[in-house]
Amino acid sequence: MNKIFFSKQIIDWYLINQRSLPWRKTRDPYKIWLSEIILQQTRVAQGLPYYNEFVKAFPTVFDLAKATEQKVLRLWQGLGYYSRARNLHRCANKIVKDFNGEFPASFEELKKLPGVGPYTAAAIASIAFSESVAVVDGNVFRVLARVFGVETDIASDEGKKYFFLLANELIDQDQPDLFNQAVMEFGALHCLPKNPKCIECILGFLEDNVFQRIAKQNSGIFKRCCQSNQKN
Ligand code: SF4
Repeated sequence: MNKIFFSKQIIDWYLINQRSLPWRKTRDPYKIWLSEIILQQTRVAQGLPYYNEFVKAFPTVFDLAKATEQKVLRLWQGLGYYSRARNLHRCANKIVKDFNGEFPASFEELKKLPGVGPYTAAAIASIAFSESVAVVDGNVFRVLARVFGVETDIASDEGKKYFFLLANELIDQDQPDLFNQAVMEFGALHCLPKNPKCIECILGFLEDNVFQRIAKQNSGIFKRCCQSNQKN
């Protein structure tokens, strides 16, 4: 019940507040992969024009694979972390050569591709193929830590494992794409690292009744939302 409640609230919030972004209007794994690689360590406002340029220059994975590395690096100029661009090109070639241009449709297989870690694999698997696997990035860590009062260090292996399991318990199995995007967007726009919008927060508003009741039912596993936030 509590998991369903959290998923529902966060998805409802997302449906009203999400930003309109081109990679959210497609289920094409190529374009989702492209956006995820470009947005690693990059703000959306900075990555958006690069995404548009790449899609224009290379509409399909075949076009990207055919391009010279020099051309790919030229388009990437200004984004930094050039290993991402090289891996992007290597990955496109692997998709064409080993998979006939079709992205593998599972989290486990996607993780084996060059430059694709667990975060990116989960994003592609859930958004393009509706696989129920949680994306866990910095925004997700922060939201879950605050809402569920988790104090485990996210930099530790134990912490990473814990948050991955928690996110996978919470995910809406029927709408994993929406759930993942909702939690990330909530962290990016609302539950901010500094000055989160607690006063106008649907989760904060409800914490006094629903979350506290759940906390009692779960022997204190769930603490009040904002508790950890107050330490910031
Ligand atoms: S109440 Fe504040 S800390 Fe809690 S989820 Fe909402 S914005 Fe984040």
